[in-house]
Amino acid sequence: MYIADFVNDRYHISEAALSRFPIPSATFSDVVKTHEQFVYAADLVPLQEELIELSTSDRTDHNMQYRWLGKDGQPIWINCRGKVVTIDGVPTYLIGCINEIGAKPKADNQSGLLRLGGSNSLPQEIAASEFNGFVLRIGVDDLRGINAKNGTRDGDTTIAFTAESILASLSEGQYVYRIDGDEFLILSMKEGNFDDALNLYRTIRTAIVQKIRTSNYKILFTVSAGIVTSTDIEDCSFDFIMKSSQHALAIAKSYGKNAYARFDLDQYNFALEQHNLGRILRDAVENDFDGFDVNYQILVSQDNGIIGAESLMRYTRPDGTVVSPMKFIPILEDTGLIIPTGRWILKQAMIAGKKAQEYIPEFVTTVNVSYVQISRTDLASDVEAILKEVGFNPANLVIELTESGFLESDIHYENSWRKLKALGVKMALDDFGTGYSNFHYLNELRPDIVKIDRSFTVSALKDEYEFQILNNMRHLSANLDLNMCVEGVETQEDLDRINMIHPEYIQGYFFGKPGPVDDLINRVKTSKNI
Ligand code: C2E
Ligand code: CA
Ligand code: CA
Repeated sequence: MYIADFVNDRYHISEAALSRFPIPSATFSDVVKTHEQFVYAADLVPLQEELIELSTSDRTDHNMQYRWLGKDGQPIWINCRGKVVTIDGVPTYLIGCINEIGAKPKADNQSGLLRLGGSNSLPQEIAASEFNGFVLRIGVDDLRGINAKNGTRDGDTTIAFTAESILASLSEGQYVYRIDGDEFLILSMKEGNFDDALNLYRTIRTAIVQKIRTSNYKILFTVSAGIVTSTDIEDCSFDFIMKSSQHALAIAKSYGKNAYARFDLDQYNFALEQHNLGRILRDAVENDFDGFDVNYQILVSQDNGIIGAESLMRYTRPDGTVVSPMKFIPILEDTGLIIPTGRWILKQAMIAGKKAQEYIPEFVTTVNVSYVQISRTDLASDVEAILKEVGFNPANLVIELTESGFLESDIHYENSWRKLKALGVKMALDDFGTGYSNFHYLNELRPDIVKIDRSFTVSALKDEYEFQILNNMRHLSANLDLNMCVEGVETQEDLDRINMIHPEYIQGYFFGKPGPVDDLINRVKTSKNI
């Protein structure tokens, strides 16, 4: 990549060129004269004429094949492409790149800009300078879709239009690189704040719209942007500039099209932590579920006797820190790891349940199942196979599913639900009372148990009106022949109040916190002896 500054008669070229051609330094002045040192003598005059024309006319495109000299003095054919940037009507910069013809092109054929990434690094003078401005990372929205729908030729045109619109929008001291297939990195190392970056993004968007209009281009594409300013980051290394801008752009893209996002270090660290935890969890799963464990929390019936237990997954990192399921379950879901762990906990829970049945024959084991398991596997077949493997009576198994995971009239969900019921397994609708509890589902799905979420219990215990809602729900579920389990009963006082509505089951710290299987078996043994 090179930049020729016509006004100050200066020239910058990527450091990489110095190892190939006898160029005195990455930055030099007296542009035309210095070119004599590395341009093949016979091609000097046409090059000089070209440079004079570009710096004095209104022509902006430069595309020329001629010869440079290698370090050994041998001519090397190169293709030099570039664009003239005009400031206040004066041709000021020629920015572009040079490819060796015949050798694999190192630069980008669609945009004429340097490709960054892999082992390519920033030109020395930029990387070395202190970062005091901003980075604007531009991504073409849905380039893949354009390529797929319209063909790669239109994809290339889209990239070229974006590159040209960016080049036309840049000011002095701003540089652009093409990275990956659909992204551009604009660097304003020395100056500029967030507002400047945002304005530049808007200018680029306007330039693209104009370009689409004036050239009657049939594709109305948009671009999104990630913005990083020097005040947003502590580590201003090239590596982190790339990572942070990539993250900001990914956030922008998650908003949909035509959007921007500013880098947020806390958000980045959180995402990084999630990512790392995802890797650790994958290792753990591959390592025979090392670090995973199951805790059991008892459920009591109306006479306060133990009727069963809910199986709750636990995970301890190799360094000994315990991770909350609220944190690791979503990661297991996002990574698909919930599928093997879901099968694993089903088996563990049935084995534990079978042991408990030695003391309480009607003991039920409940297992939470995620919507991901339903949408990506044949859950009923999995459950059936594990029931068989363990030799577990389906009537003693309760599958807990939340309604939040599925959308109205989700046939797949309903089919899985019905298949599980057909196995003779009991079904519980978990988290009831949070989000959009829909009585319509109760009628449709006919769960065996409705589990009242702790947050609902807490508000019912605090507020008379909420308590009446709970009470009405109790009547409604009784009419539909559904059992109710109230979660989150912590004190005798809570219990006295909840007992007024006579739920079939109660679960909460008052009767026991979740604990290891041995504690469960001890509880079950002693309760039998009573
Ligand atoms: P959940 O299914 O609603 O499970 C009940 C949660 O409430 C458990 O939290 C339990 O420890 C807690 N809890 C029970 N009684 C009380 C009480 O009296 N007071 C308070 N403050 N809390 C109580 P835990 O174990 O942290 O699990 C959180 C959530 O993680 C579960 O909520 C469930 O959604 C999910 N989860 C746990 N294990 C699994 C699993 O194996 N698979 C799936 N898909 N999700 C799981
Ligand atoms: Ca549950
Ligand atoms: Ca629950």
